[in-house]
Amino acid sequence: MAEKTLFQRIADGEIPADIVHEDELCIAFRDINPHAPTHILVVPRKPIPSLDDLEDADRDVVGHLFLCARDIAKSEGLSEGYRTVFNCGKHGQQTVNHLHLHLLGGRQMQWPPG
Ligand code: 5GP
Repeated sequence: MAEKTLFQRIADGEIPADIVHEDELCIAFRDINPHAPTHILVVPRKPIPSLDDLEDADRDVVGHLFLCARDIAKSEGLSEGYRTVFNCGKHGQQTVNHLHLHLLGGRQMQWPPG
């Protein structure tokens, strides 16, 4: 069996995390190194390595991540807006090879990103 990803280990309770949401398809927890007052990772339970590895059958899971991000943004009080990001691969500076949607808010964002 393939070795568990870091985020699978968090989902399985093997590594502690500040969990803000859990359901049958995903788990959401606060980033250990936040880049905004609110920085939450929304992670599918399925260990899809990256955006590049998505299959057509993952359509519902990805849609679910965004709907959860929307609901979490609401419960975090991000009424002024927020940003969602999927980093992908080397140029995208992805560091954990388990798909995750960053939800960042609570401060003014800049554009373009670095
Ligand atoms: P990436 O760079 O792959 O887009 O995002 C990975 C994110 O996971 C980073 O923002 C990093 O701070 C976060 N991270 C890495 N290890 C841990 C951990 O053990 N716990 C939590 N909560 N976040 C982590």
